[in-house]
Formats: sequence, structure tokens, C-alpha cells
Amino acid sequence: MHCSKKTVRDIDVSGKKVFLRCDFNVPRDKDTGVITDKGRVVAALPTINYLLDHNAAIILCSHLGRPKGSWKPELSLAPVAKLLADELGKPVKMSKDVVGEDAQRLSRELRPGEIMLLENVRFHKEEEANDPEFAKKLADMADLYVTDAFGCVHRSHASTAGIAAYLPAVSGLLMELELKYLGDILTNPKRPFTAILGGSKVSDKLGVISNLLEKADTLLLGGGMAFTFIKASGGHIGKSLCEEEQIEYAKDMIKKAQRLGVNLLLPVDTVAAKEFSPDAEHTTVDIENIPDDCMGLDIGPKTAAAFSSAILSSATVVWNGPMGVFEYDAFAEGTRAVAKAIAESGAESIIGGGDSASAVRKFGYADKITHISTGGGASLEFLEGKDLPGIACLMDMD
Ligand code: ADP
Ligand code: MG
Repeated sequence: MHCSKKTVRDIDVSGKKVFLRCDFNVPRDKDTGVITDKGRVVAALPTINYLLDHNAAIILCSHLGRPKGSWKPELSLAPVAKLLADELGKPVKMSKDVVGEDAQRLSRELRPGEIMLLENVRFHKEEEANDPEFAKKLADMADLYVTDAFGCVHRSHASTAGIAAYLPAVSGLLMELELKYLGDILTNPKRPFTAILGGSKVSDKLGVISNLLEKADTLLLGGGMAFTFIKASGGHIGKSLCEEEQIEYAKDMIKKAQRLGVNLLLPVDTVAAKEFSPDAEHTTVDIENIPDDCMGLDIGPKTAAAFSSAILSSATVVWNGPMGVFEYDAFAEGTRAVAKAIAESGAESIIGGGDSASAVRKFGYADKITHISTGGGASLEFLEGKDLPGIACLMDMD
């Protein structure tokens, strides 16, 4: 279903007022509020430019942070309006409110080729409650709904789903890319298809593990989550991360892999330390015999070699979750090896998850990856195979 959604290119936008939902939830400096990474704003520029070039007027909408339905001046989108104006080289009007008098007046006066930004939509509690009246007020300002907010498609909010009840709704160019890679490739991957899962917790990724087992030829499991699987298969994991309550689930997944004929590879060795710290003394040990006073903080070199070799013979790779505590140099080698193998494999490669994306960037392989998803939680729910409200509400292709 995901690849069959209409985009801005499938609909006449000329002379129309377009309500464009973006994800401008940018990271900011805790003390100064200065935007530290403009990536999410830059990612929306292709759709904005497309609409401006095609004679549309744009009413931009986003949330920022978690104001929880109250008016918080420190979470104003005004700095984003300023950044956008700099990037576009043209004025971006900023309304003082979201659906109030100022927004209504500005949107009424907006002409083709002009652009405005509404104040933080989560200043209203009706946004997250998906209040139909609020959604209608948003819709009343425009003729068309376009969304590039992939990071929010798993949310059933007024500006991410509810509004589509009142306006023709299509995806923007960024959303189109996400749906193309995550949607098409998961539906119809070139084989062999290898999925790599890591990160800290099994419980964060129950649905992802289960769904990817049904799609992939090979599943590589590393990171903190692997230890619950090692314990489930009888290994001794010392003080490594373990979720006792997920051991039964891990056993089920091991059985599921056998039943479906999926090649499930668990780590065979690990880089272990007595404490969780950047300069902890560390040694490589057999994964099934980790000393009682040690915890595994990275996959070991034998595992990295086995994982790399599986990746190098793949045609499609999907990766979510680092192989170890890559934030510390001593425990970064496993994650680096996997990133390197993906870059060298020539496989179609997709990365979902915030920390995995920052790992490939940190190791300098980002430009070798086919697609790095912009949505953290959203890309995970996509990998779970869930029907997502922010996608389901868009118009289907004829
Ligand atoms: P993503 O954001 O890509 O979905 P996660 O948030 O699930 O990834 O996991 C990332 C975190 O997992 C990182 O901060 C990393 O330090 C941690 N991690 C990976 N391996 C281990 C391990 N063996 N022990 C403890 N933490 C780990
Ligand atoms: Mg994370």
C-alpha cells in the first residue's frame, strides 16, 4: 500500500494554498536554544521549492519539543522561520498563533509564491488529541494537505492525520522517498536480503524482530539486545544487559527463524568490561562464557567478520540499532565494521533509527548508504509492518 500514495506531483497545486506539515522538531542547545542541526529543515526544502515553483502558497506547520498543550515561549518555532528564510533567500512570515486571528489573517492574505509558518501546533492540546474541530480549523486555512513529516506518521494527531478528513491529502517529496525505500524495498526486496538489528533493548523492537524474520533471508542480531537471546539459548552472559521478561520471546523468535528457514546469526564473541565507562579495561571473550563480573559492550572481532561476510553477499540490507556502545571508542569497532561492510557491499541499504543513523555519519559512511530514514520511532513502526495513520490518510494512486 505504501508505495501507491499520490504525491504533490500527481495533483494540480497552481494557485492553491497548501498546508504543508513538516517535521521541524530540530535539536537545540539546552541553554541558548540555538538550532544545532538544521538537517530536518534542509530536508523539507525540495518540497517547499517544488510548491513555490508551481505557483502555490505555503502554510507550514510543525511541532517543536513537548509543550504538552500549553503555550511555552521557549518552544516557539520563530527560530525555524528565520532559518528557513535564510535557506530560501526569501521572507517567511511567522504567525503568532496556530488557528487564531493572526494565523487566519496571514493565511487569508497569502499569495502564490509566498510562504508562512504557523506557531508550534502542539501549543494546543487538541493537536495530540486529534480533535476534529481543531483539525477542521487547520484545514479551513488551505485548499490542499501535503505532508513531509515522516517522523510523525505513527502519530494520529490533528495535523498529521485528522486534517486529511477535510482536504485532499498527498505526500511531499521527502515523504515519497521514505515510502519508496522503506515501503517498496520491504515489500519486494532484492535477494539475498539481510536485516541487522541491535541497540539496547529487545522490548523496544519486539515487532521489528518478528516482522523482519518474515521478510529477510538472514537476520544478524548484535548490540545489547543480543544477550537476552544468548541467555535464552543457554549462554552465560555475566552482567551484560538482559531483559529476563523477554527470554521466552527470544526463544520464540529463535524457533520462528528455524521454522521459516531464516539464517539467524547471533554473536559468538564480545568485547567485555567490568564497568560501563569509556576507559574501562576490556577484553574479548567467548559470548557464552562471559565472566560474572563483566558485561559485553560490543560484538567481538570473530562476530564482526561473520556479520561482514553475510552483509557483503547481500543485495539488500536493512539496519537498525548499533552493535555496541559505539559512543565510546573502545566499544565502537563492531558498529564500525558493520557500517563499513554495508558501504562496501554495493547492496541497496536502508538505515532506520536515530542512533544507527548517527553511527554511520560518525564513521563517515553516510554517502554510501542508499537511504537513511529521517524518522526514528516512525521508521521502527514502519519496519514492524504497522499501518500508520499519517500514511493511511493520504490519497491512493488511481
Ligand atoms: P536506534 O536509535 O538506532 O534505534 P537504539 O536506540 O535501540 O538504536 O540503541 C542505541 C543504543 O544502544 C546506543 O546508545 C548504544 O550505546 C546502546 N548499546 C548497544 N550495544 C550495547 C550493549 N552491548 N550494552 C549496552 N548498551 C548498548
Ligand atoms: Mg535510539
